[in-house]
Amino acid sequence: MRRKLIAGNWKMNGGLAANESLLKALMASVEVDVSEPVVSSEVLVCVPALFLAQCAELLAGSKIAVGAQDVSAHKSGAYTGEISSAMLADYACKYVIVGHSERRAYHHETDEVVAQKALQALRLGICPIVCVGETLEQREAGKTFEVVAMQLQAVMDVLDEGALARIVVAYEPVWAIGTGKTATPVMAQEVHAHLRSLLAQRDETVASKLRILYGGSMKPDNAVELMAMPDIDGGLIGGASLNAADFLAIIRAA
Ligand code: PEP
Repeated sequence: MRRKLIAGNWKMNGGLAANESLLKALMASVEVDVSEPVVSSEVLVCVPALFLAQCAELLAGSKIAVGAQDVSAHKSGAYTGEISSAMLADYACKYVIVGHSERRAYHHETDEVVAQKALQALRLGICPIVCVGETLEQREAGKTFEVVAMQLQAVMDVLDEGALARIVVAYEPVWAIGTGKTATPVMAQEVHAHLRSLLAQRDETVASKLRILYGGSMKPDNAVELMAMPDIDGGLIGGASLNAADFLAIIRAA
């Protein structure tokens, strides 16, 4: 059975005081709620890089892991403003989001760049959460499967089976991110199943164990239905992860 992963993506939000109160509220409940069941979910917050030190310190010894929202495609050197995977590893980062649609759209990240980022993360033992997803235009043109397949293939092309087994995939339809529109559980499941079948063509064992998260306006009121789908192994949550009550409700739903 795949252990569910509930990952918050704070995006460019937060501040020292706000982070502390949000994390303290989360820790107070997560320690109680998630410690009981046999199959407990994994909980993660992906925070702005500048807050990694603060969040890693606050979360040390807790059941909530800390992750980043991006990593450089390069190892080190003259890349002003970039943050390397080695730097993330220094701050106890367990996960990093790569290929979020906002980075693909606003920072022109190609599938190949995203694949290099995943490689750099894995090099330092950090799990990349590889985001894939179609725009509304692509969905309406019937190209959803084709688009997500190309995005995933670029990553599969650079990873051997051992490395592939260590990634997480997040299906995030672009039209559902931050819009309040959610893919229905059936729509999401179709794409998740497609992604898993592509992975299975490469390696069936890896495909059966690899977690595929859903992201796109996941909220307390739709989380249960989405995560009840057989191929939805958790959520990547933007807006609702900034509110302790909402994020905790999603964790409970998992
Ligand atoms: C995201 O940014 O990854 C996301 C899913 O955002 P939201 O939950 O706000 O749609």
